Amino acid sequence: MSKQTASFNKALRDIARLINSDTIASEKLQRLVALAPRPLAVRGCSLLLLDEDRTRLIHLAARGISERYLRKGFIEADKSLSETLEGKVVSVVDAAADPRIQFRELARQEHIASIMSVPVRIRGRVAGSLRVYSRTRREFILEEQEYLETVANLAGVMLDAEDTRGSRNQMLGDVATPGPKAGSPLKPETFAHPSEEEFARLLDFYQIEWLYEPRSFPLQWDNGKITEMFTPDFYLPGQDLYIEMTTLKPSLTTEKRQKVRRLRQLYPEVNIKLMGRNDCDRLLAKYDHGPLSGSKTRGIGRVLFSTPQIQRRVRQLAKEISRRHEGERPLLVGVMRGVFVFMADLARHLTVPVDIDFMAISYYGAEKGGAVRVTKDLDINPEGRHVLMVEDIVDTGMTLSFVLSYLRTRSPRSLSVCTLFDKTAHRLADVQLDYVGFEVPDEFLVGYGLDFDEEYRNLPFVALLKEERPESEADR
Ligand code: 5GP
Ligand code: MG
Repeated sequence: MSKQTASFNKALRDIARLINSDTIASEKLQRLVALAPRPLAVRGCSLLLLDEDRTRLIHLAARGISERYLRKGFIEADKSLSETLEGKVVSVVDAAADPRIQFRELARQEHIASIMSVPVRIRGRVAGSLRVYSRTRREFILEEQEYLETVANLAGVMLDAEDTRGSRNQMLGDVATPGPKAGSPLKPETFAHPSEEEFARLLDFYQIEWLYEPRSFPLQWDNGKITEMFTPDFYLPGQDLYIEMTTLKPSLTTEKRQKVRRLRQLYPEVNIKLMGRNDCDRLLAKYDHGPLSGSKTRGIGRVLFSTPQIQRRVRQLAKEISRRHEGERPLLVGVMRGVFVFMADLARHLTVPVDIDFMAISYYGAEKGGAVRVTKDLDINPEGRHVLMVEDIVDTGMTLSFVLSYLRTRSPRSLSVCTLFDKTAHRLADVQLDYVGFEVPDEFLVGYGLDFDEEYRNLPFVALLKEERPESEADR
């Protein structure tokens, strides 16, 4: 028996055992999509079911593909590999270019190269499809198709059995129907209510990513038919949080609370929050906006880099650094205090072992010909080490240049620099920056470790200070 046949057999054995076990239905689905792709060397798998009208496909369960891809919008049955629903096996080699794929651009962004889709039948009638996704371009051979068809048949038996035992509700515990806004524009122009729009602008202000009504949750069923659905207003992918606004009609609040309670019971893994008027005001005030604000200083203005933006970039930098230092154990050196947030995030994304140390310096009468001094030296000896200077922001470069020349006297094996922000406008010292997170304009930044008069270091994003109004205007 070939190795491949053996792995098909093993997967089928595991799946058959799973289906015949007393595992709860929703768990069975999750495990099924985890087991099914194993012998195919693909990245992920999903099980989609046709809705009542047979016009849309609903994700019952998925594994190895991102939330974003899952919530991409309605999957219209006639636009998404419709041949599967006619009972055929469909193989797509290049998903980003194949017209049979509804969301090609998204497939490209998600690095989904090839897809195989087979019909799922319940008692002979096509009820949905089972799909596997590959990161690399590939074709699927006959044995692989036959294997996936067998899995799809088992899935059909499972769905049917769970249905007739009346536990359909539980099975639907994982149903995700992308919301009413069809397809690609993830951010619609129109909101059901102005306060939703206001909230969306607030999220934009903080550069928090959001999706409007991306998913509907079935709340009630009658004979397998969905009789009640609930579509929360917003989903924040960065927070994995749904938000339902209750700022509009007080008369609806009780009903909404009930729906949210029911949703929490049925979908315990889903985070959802009700957002009232007070919550909105408090959110504004948190970063010194709106009626409740009360910071001693100016308050913050425009957000330049949002939390997700920073996190993404920090991950990339860490990847680069880890690659460059593979097999080594670099010593990360930070100058206090602004770098502490960046250092903490960067260090946690590095995949090589590291040492971490900090220095402190102070500026003594710089204007009067004074000097920069080291007030806290390294505790770890940098001699013979690969030293990586980690900086929050490089402006004139004077600080960095001083620290680098000091470190050179300690004979490190190598010395490189990583800075999150590079403000090039007033560069005086010629310093080489090996890794740069973002180039920034000539403005004063606060947040993510950077302070103004010791305030704002703890903001999770980076912003500008609020414009100072001229005295005369402030008096009016
Ligand atoms: P440099 O010596 O390169 O002129 O200045 C570097 C130091 O100045 C940074 O470590 C930081 O403490 C401070 N700095 C420079 N630009 C900014 C800024 O935009 N915001 C804040 N909060 N500090 C800055
Ligand atoms: Mg600094």
